[in-house]
Parts: sequence; structure tokens; C-alpha cells
Amino acid sequence: MIEVAASLAEAELLSLWENGSWLDTAGRALVLAEAGGGAEPGTAAELPIGERDAILLSLHESWFGRRLRCAVTCPSCQGRLETEVSTVDLRVPVGTGGPVSADGVELDVRPVSTADLLAARDRRALLLRCVRSARKGERAISPAELPEEVLEAVAAALPELDPQADVSLGMSCASCAHEWGAPFDIAGYLWAVLDTHARRLLYEIHELATAYGWTEREVLSVGPARRRFYLEAART
Ligand SMILES: [Zn+2]
Repeated sequence: MIEVAASLAEAELLSLWENGSWLDTAGRALVLAEAGGGAEPGTAAELPIGERDAILLSLHESWFGRRLRCAVTCPSCQGRLETEVSTVDLRVPVGTGGPVSADGVELDVRPVSTADLLAARDRRALLLRCVRSARKGERAISPAELPEEVLEAVAAALPELDPQADVSLGMSCASCAHEWGAPFDIAGYLWAVLDTHARRLLYEIHELATAYGWTEREVLSVGPARRRFYLEAART
């Protein structure tokens, strides 16, 4: 278990939000994973996605608690469902890879990393990046020689080789009784929570700066209880 900062200072929250605002989903996942004592700076991209996501779960626990509220659309009746899960229930083993055999070929396969997703130009290239080695009998096989069927076996094995990268929520629709597993993405979820907190804080800063002529730094230097008082006073 990694040691992450127990709380997120407001100035740090705003700086994280600003750094991530310009990035796509993968970039935000990396910025978050390297925040608060998670992954070492510059290393998150190389981590298996399951390991990266385990760090993001720890960050959510430290900063915002264990409870996660999710809204999901039922794929059968399109009804809107709300559910609450604990980060504890979303923790599964972090994989490091393992053997895959198909068509007489024995492969050693590693889990997908964020760097793989960013670098691979297509699905085949992504799967090939994850093959550490391949042999048929005594003969080593080069990646270029691997037939599609073998690569499909690699693709099929990936969720099992890195279970934490492929988490889903067991859902049951109250309206139509449909049951399914809804994919859960902690990177997108944690960013959305951070985004909500950052925007709420920025609106508070805006309101107090406008009312009292304070700078952003001055607003942030006022403690939460006094800030709440000044906000209420400014609104009356
Ligand atoms: Zn339904």
C-alpha cells in the first residue's frame, strides 16, 4: 500500500486542477497519480494501468473518503440508476503479467500501461508492446511473426493479467430487472470529483474577492469557518 497525503491543501487542489485542465483523460490520470505522494514524478506512465488505478483509489480515500456515488444508465431500458460503492469493494489484485498460450505459441505478457496507450498507433501495435517474449517449442518468435489469432488470445488474457485495470460495478435495474457489469473508471471519476471541488472553491474566491477586494491568496489564507461567515455576510 502506498503512502499518500492525508489531505489535499486548497492551493494544491487548484494547481492540480489547473495542470490537468489542459490534458486529455490519460494525461489527467498521470497528473493525479503523481500527486499527493502517489507515484514518483515521471513514473506513472510506465505503471500497469491497474497499479496506476490502485494509487488513484488511495488518493480518493485520502482526499475525499471511501464512498463513491455513481450514476449509471441501464443499457436495457435507458433508465437512470444511482448507486454507492466503497473504494474497498473496487480493490482487486494488481497484476504484473504472466503466461499466455495460443496456437502452440507460449508467450510472456505484461499488463498495458498508460505509455502503451499513448504510444501505440493501433490495436495490434498495443498488443505487441505487451508481449515480453514468445516461443514455439524451442524457437523464439519475433513479434512481427505473431499471427492475429495469437494476438487475440493476448487481448482476451489482458483483463485477467491486470484485474485492477478492468473493474466493473455489479448493477441491477429496479425498473426492468436487467443485471450487468458497468465498467468503472477511477481516473475519470477522481478527476470529476476534483473538478467539482475546484470549481466550488473558485466561485467562493470570486465571490469574496468581489465583495471585499481580496486577492486569491488572501481569500485562501482565511480559514474555512471564517470564510463561511464572510460569504454569508456578503450575501445578506
Ligand atoms: Zn433497466
